[in-house]
Amino acid sequence: MTSRRNFLQKISATAFALPFLPGTGSLTLPDFEEQAYQQGKVLRVAIMGLGSYGTRVAEALQACKRAKLVGAISGTPSKLKDWQTKYNIPAKNCYNYENFDQIKNNRDIDAVYVITPNALHRDQVIRVAKAGKHAICEKPMAINAKEGQEMVDACRQANVKLLVGYRLHFEPNTLEIIRMRKAGELGKVLFFQGLSGFRIGDPNQWRLKKELAGGGSMMDIGIYSINGARYMIGEEPTWVTAQETKTDPVKFKEGVDETIQFQLGFPSGAVASCLSTYSMNNLDRFFLNGDKGYAELFPATGYGPIKGRTHKGELTGPHTTHQTVQMDEMAAIIFDNKQPVVPVDGLEGLKDLKIIDAIFQAVKTGRKVDVKI
Ligand code: NAD
Repeated sequence: MTSRRNFLQKISATAFALPFLPGTGSLTLPDFEEQAYQQGKVLRVAIMGLGSYGTRVAEALQACKRAKLVGAISGTPSKLKDWQTKYNIPAKNCYNYENFDQIKNNRDIDAVYVITPNALHRDQVIRVAKAGKHAICEKPMAINAKEGQEMVDACRQANVKLLVGYRLHFEPNTLEIIRMRKAGELGKVLFFQGLSGFRIGDPNQWRLKKELAGGGSMMDIGIYSINGARYMIGEEPTWVTAQETKTDPVKFKEGVDETIQFQLGFPSGAVASCLSTYSMNNLDRFFLNGDKGYAELFPATGYGPIKGRTHKGELTGPHTTHQTVQMDEMAAIIFDNKQPVVPVDGLEGLKDLKIIDAIFQAVKTGRKVDVKI
């Protein structure tokens, strides 16, 4: 029903732009549907991992112009049945974690979006690449840089694209600050502050298990401040320092960080000072300071609306469902080789992992650690 309604909305939105099609007096529905997407080839996506974020992406895909949910991969047969009904997914496009390599024989699927616990991303993306499908992977792309590099190499070898779900890279207020910084409107930027955190609930969830999460708050939420520092300052860091604090060693076991404060140093002399935590709410704020002005986003990375201001006034970019824009943009990246303002490719995901590795090393040694991006 939803799918049909969206299809009809798409038709009405584009009907006037439809070209005259010679010899197609009576169009069959699939042809017509193809033609309805006037903005380019449609990316046909299967989602792997039908959890909370997978469901959010599935909903967002319903409003896409260039991307479409056509398949699902899950270990739970009842979830696959539900998704077949809810999103009109044919049974032949449904797989489980044992048999999804067979997706290579499925010509109706272009890409697989991996939305499972962090530690599973590496193997799953490599299997997707070996099946000849483009891989879109949630953040963190993997649990360390070594794994990230293996994923980049596997996708390159298979000649498929690897993209990471960095939805903020397409967010209008974020992009406006990047534009202002590039245009020199902030002057010389010397400082960024990133605060990323929330109070995590259920102590039994995979996010608090090192073997599935690869760490704690840093992998999950601190990565937003790392990534944000890089796209806000517009450089790659050359060193990191970091300090960990833990108030609840029962909930946050060995290797699962509760709170880490970290600093990143950039070649221009700019510094980022950031906080990653699973123990405090209301921490989702970016602040960028230059000698001619400043920019603030608060909230900076939630599902929106993203709000903020600069020395020139309030930011007024429109709120759009991040995942809808992301998936339409990813279709353009995959099919048209479009270059986004801030990259969302595997190398971008790998850079954040190299910094996370260095932060963990800095916590362990208490030393300043050099980063080579
Ligand atoms: P979730 O727990 O809601 O869903 C995870 C899914 O993976 C579930 O359906 C679960 O059944 C499945 N799964 C498969 N194998 C599993 C295993 N061995 N153990 C546990 N679950 C298994 O988690 P989520 O919030 O959807 O997060 C999934 C991924 O998406 C994570 O990498 C997370 O960082 C990322 N994420 C990104 C954003 C974003 O804004 N970009 C937001 C939330 C989550």
